[in-house]
Amino acid sequence: MRRVDERQARAALCETARDIWVRGLGAAADGNLSVRLGPNRVLTTPSGCHKGRLRAPDLVVTDLSGAPVGAGRPSSELSLHLAAYRVRPDVGAVIHAHPPMATAYQLAGGKLSEVYVSEVIFAFGQVATAPYTTPTTASVGETLEPYLRCYDVVMMPRHGSVTLGADLDQAFVRLDAMEHTARVCATAQLLGAQFGTPPQPIAEGEVTRLYAAASLERPSASCPPMEPLAAPIEGADERLVQAVMAALSRGSPA
Ligand SMILES: [Zn+2]
Repeated sequence: MRRVDERQARAALCETARDIWVRGLGAAADGNLSVRLGPNRVLTTPSGCHKGRLRAPDLVVTDLSGAPVGAGRPSSELSLHLAAYRVRPDVGAVIHAHPPMATAYQLAGGKLSEVYVSEVIFAFGQVATAPYTTPTTASVGETLEPYLRCYDVVMMPRHGSVTLGADLDQAFVRLDAMEHTARVCATAQLLGAQFGTPPQPIAEGEVTRLYAAASLERPSASCPPMEPLAAPIEGADERLVQAVMAALSRGSPA
């Protein structure tokens, strides 16, 4: 694991945070970024900061348990960054953002794992979506860990994205590519609905060829599924029992 120059990392982190805000990949105080400085050191954004106005001295250094080393208080979402560093020695930077189009596309029922445009495979593979967890709680890191082990881009439903990279530039490029793709997909869905020509995802065989062309391995069978299982419908069991009881009380049809 290579060591990273802290002074350069501080400057790069502030610049990337500004890019995220300027490009509208989150509101001013949204999200958090980190860079791995060494085997047990992480440089990260402080709690609740304006991403467009960060200064190098504002950043916080912690160890891999999240304990600050020196001044400052890290973001309450640091656990998801630490989960990535724990399970992925190849990861040198993590960005958590609130990209509006990807979040909205998913809220409206769009599946971000479906491949509609080929360049997404070259940028990062496919988007995986983890189960919902309450933001800022310790369970976020725990829930995300198996996904971060397998995927470079993970969405948290009703919340935002996590993108991993060997460095900050790569993590940012993946975030930017995902949001751009969500914009293309959402526009295609809207236009397709208007013209009666809904867009179709790229066929499975061609997705396999794209992975090969990008020299990227497909996620293994041991990885969690890219789309979360359908959420249980509240009260469904009770309603089912009532429906069966009502049918029984009516007797079998003649
Ligand atoms: Zn967040």
